[in-house]
Amino acid sequence: MKRQTIRTIIFLATISLVGIIATQYFWVKNAYNLEEKQFNERVHIALSNVSHQLLNINKDESQLINPVKQISSNYFIAIINDTVHPYLLETLLKNEFTTRNLNIDFEYVIYDCFTDSVVFGDYISLDSEDKNQLQSKSFNIVWDRDGHYFGVYFPSKRSYIINEMGIWIFSSSIILVIIIFFAYTINVILKQKRLSEIKNDFINNITHEFKTPISTISLSSEVLLQPNIANDPERLKNYAQIIKDENNRLKNQVDKVLQLATLEIDKLKLENELIDLHEIINETVKSFDLIIERQQGKITTMLGAKKSQIVGDRVHISNILFNLIDNAIKYSPEHPKIEISTDNYFSGIEITVKDKGIGISKENQKHVFEKFYRVPTGNVHNVKGFGLGLNYVKTIVMAYNGKIKVSSKENEGTTFTVKLPFNT
Ligand code: ATP
Ligand code: MG
Repeated sequence: MKRQTIRTIIFLATISLVGIIATQYFWVKNAYNLEEKQFNERVHIALSNVSHQLLNINKDESQLINPVKQISSNYFIAIINDTVHPYLLETLLKNEFTTRNLNIDFEYVIYDCFTDSVVFGDYISLDSEDKNQLQSKSFNIVWDRDGHYFGVYFPSKRSYIINEMGIWIFSSSIILVIIIFFAYTINVILKQKRLSEIKNDFINNITHEFKTPISTISLSSEVLLQPNIANDPERLKNYAQIIKDENNRLKNQVDKVLQLATLEIDKLKLENELIDLHEIINETVKSFDLIIERQQGKITTMLGAKKSQIVGDRVHISNILFNLIDNAIKYSPEHPKIEISTDNYFSGIEITVKDKGIGISKENQKHVFEKFYRVPTGNVHNVKGFGLGLNYVKTIVMAYNGKIKVSSKENEGTTFTVKLPFNT
């Protein structure tokens, strides 16, 4: 799949998801408002009924016009201007709420209209457990006060309404699951895409690396097959040498890929001998003299570690340095300037290899130690490689319980820091 296609799919899918979420939000909000409206209406009717019943019981002939007022979202008052006995009020309220299917805890308070102060209040739970509770505290009250109004407060109104919206909670949860699933799928697609890019890059590199020696060998063997070549032993020897050299190069490449690609930490055979890191660094740097000279670059060493001996495998440790310096040269466009330094930390040696090359972006830094990973450069193959070097370096460093990290800025340069414990 093309990058552009994937982007379009992700974009469209995200837009549709945002649409679905917005619609869902709109409907849930509407449903909540409707549910709340119904709740308020039922409470209105219930309180109004209770008020009328109270007047009937008191044999009061006065007419009540709109006795119930909603003061806030969960607080209602009913003005009856008559005596209210708390226990009677509580019983009537419970009855009304139960018949109207309003199974919600509430608090009621009785006010004195003259002083506007609370004269009685209680919290009533309609839970089945509480139903069997001891008698209400209002039961034994002797009541001789006149001129009252009462208020009813629903502390858990919001959660009660949300509980009533079961189907909406269910559909919202399904949408949430869809979103999680979607994010997961996108993640898998992107991962697969990256894997296939890495695979293509690798195949391209291999082809590139192998094509040159193969065609050289083919050309040389054609020369050797010419009938009169035996008359010119010098030429014959030259071509035979070319075939041998190219064959060696091919063999080394294949060996490298086969060895590094199948490298596993637990199958590594590491010699453990006392080695001097500074000596190895100097030797490795020397092996690059020719290339550095040709590219008019410079490798500076600042070997500051006081204690430079560690226990390790000479070949693998020098390979670590070889790979880091090789990268530093390969990824510096011209005149590579490389600094190698060492220092001691409390239980080992820290080596840094610093270049002023093309650098690695933050995103790519996360992946450079992965097998076959090369920073994508489109289809440009000016720098050859299989993406195996750093993976190998990391494997060896880990085998010695060391640490490796990279810090880099694009177009400014890269620093690799390796920490190797003394292991003595
Ligand atoms: P090889 O297997 O031959 O070493 P390689 O150099 O491509 O191939 P690694 O050494 O594993 O593979 O490096 C992985 C990638 O990290 C490189 O392709 C390159 O894009 C990036 N990289 C590594 N070192 C540097 C550096 N010093 N500066 C900039 N980019 C680097
Ligand atoms: Mg490399």
